[in-house]
Amino acid sequence: MRYISTRGEAAPRGFEDVLLAGLAEDGGLFLPESWPSLGAAEWRALRGLPYAELAARLIHPFTGGALSLEDLQGLTRAAYAGFRHPATVPLVQLGPRDFALELFHGPTLAFKDVALQLLGRLFDHVLAKRGERITIVGATSGDTGSAAIEACRDRAAVDIVILHPRGRTSEVQRRQMTTVLAPNVANLAIEGSFDDCQDLVKAMFVDAPFRAEMRLAAVNSINWARIVAQIPYYAAAALALGAPEREVAVSVPTGNFGNVLAAWAARRMGLPIARFIVASNRNDILARFLAANDMSVRPVEPSLSPSMDIQVSSNFERLLFELLGRDAAATARIMRDFRATGRMPVPDAAWRAASADFAGFALDDDATLAEIARWHAEAGYLADPHTAVGLAAARAHAPADPGIPVVTAATAHPAKFPDAVERATGLRPPLPPALADLYAREERLAVLPNDLAAVQGFVRAHALRNAA
Ligand SMILES: *Cc1c(COP(=O)(O)O)cnc(C)c1O
Repeated sequence: MRYISTRGEAAPRGFEDVLLAGLAEDGGLFLPESWPSLGAAEWRALRGLPYAELAARLIHPFTGGALSLEDLQGLTRAAYAGFRHPATVPLVQLGPRDFALELFHGPTLAFKDVALQLLGRLFDHVLAKRGERITIVGATSGDTGSAAIEACRDRAAVDIVILHPRGRTSEVQRRQMTTVLAPNVANLAIEGSFDDCQDLVKAMFVDAPFRAEMRLAAVNSINWARIVAQIPYYAAAALALGAPEREVAVSVPTGNFGNVLAAWAARRMGLPIARFIVASNRNDILARFLAANDMSVRPVEPSLSPSMDIQVSSNFERLLFELLGRDAAATARIMRDFRATGRMPVPDAAWRAASADFAGFALDDDATLAEIARWHAEAGYLADPHTAVGLAAARAHAPADPGIPVVTAATAHPAKFPDAVERATGLRPPLPPALADLYAREERLAVLPNDLAAVQGFVRAHALRNAA
């Protein structure tokens, strides 16, 4: 299995290189040269497997021999052993045809753990084989940093430094990061804004000698391995509901388009998914695109579902490339225009193809609170604001055939967003027992000014100390 770039100017690479590189050198995103596909009997044979086994079997074809199935099984078992539910990703029935696929039982209470818990172990496996180390650096406004830290803690060949704006994350968010005391983990509180943190990280990547010296790597959602690791849970849900004999629809609270793209990839592999419902908050660029081919950037507005507060859904480029019949030159041109003008000129035929399979939906904060209240009243279910947007979208765009169930990706635990849930229902969801003592734990962080040389010095010292 080789991987090609959506912009066509990078040499094809194997799975390990794609895992370590993230973005292709030409600025494009990696996709498999061809999609592995399963027949009906092969899907049927996967029914009833424990989640870690199912995941290993579906991910293995994408590794192109870089890992044996046994090694991969070892990694998926270890990755999901720490999830708080024995089903790893339980499917909960909320209504006659409405299901929530709970993806938030990992260490940081959000769906990103499903991919990142495996990604950290894949890094270690590949780096140990090569005798190499990497340094992950990233910036967070609060939410994604903890999932990256939990993924990398205690990994032998990986150091991680996460920058956050000092005093501008919630206390729970900060403590989820700073109470991880593993020696390879460092938290930097920067005297500045989230944008300052992002600029510092970008500047470190642009500094080629520093980048090479530190073997800098990123774990953001453009990494192909993250997408692959999200395919199996759609298969788990569909198989439980009768696939391959029965179709399902999926509704996905969407930001960077990674999670819904994984569902689309599952269909490319032969899973019968009848419709992809793309759920957005008031930041509705994808809904405008799917309704009227209007992919134009507007300022980001804060909402109750902050992980979906985006201007540009970076993983959309992968779908665009496929919709254009894998025309890399056209993809590169359209992405260049988009960067230059803030408006993506998607050809009419490609837009029609997208809107045949994908339905867009947007919901404001008041309606999100009403949706949380509704599911609590009707089914005794507490949904977080992201999940609530997905559930509303599922209702609005369920296929006409009532025999097709709709699976909504429940992307965050309600206790991760307790204020919104309490406003909607009067109930304050408690943190799961494993996190209940978060406020009592010791924190470790360093405070630095918004200064590139100071941050680079810190990163270098951190990496050298751990390599020694
Ligand atoms: C990251 C995130 C999303 C958006 O997922 P994408 O893959 O970026 O579309 C939705 N909900 C929650 C809770 C998240 O953390």
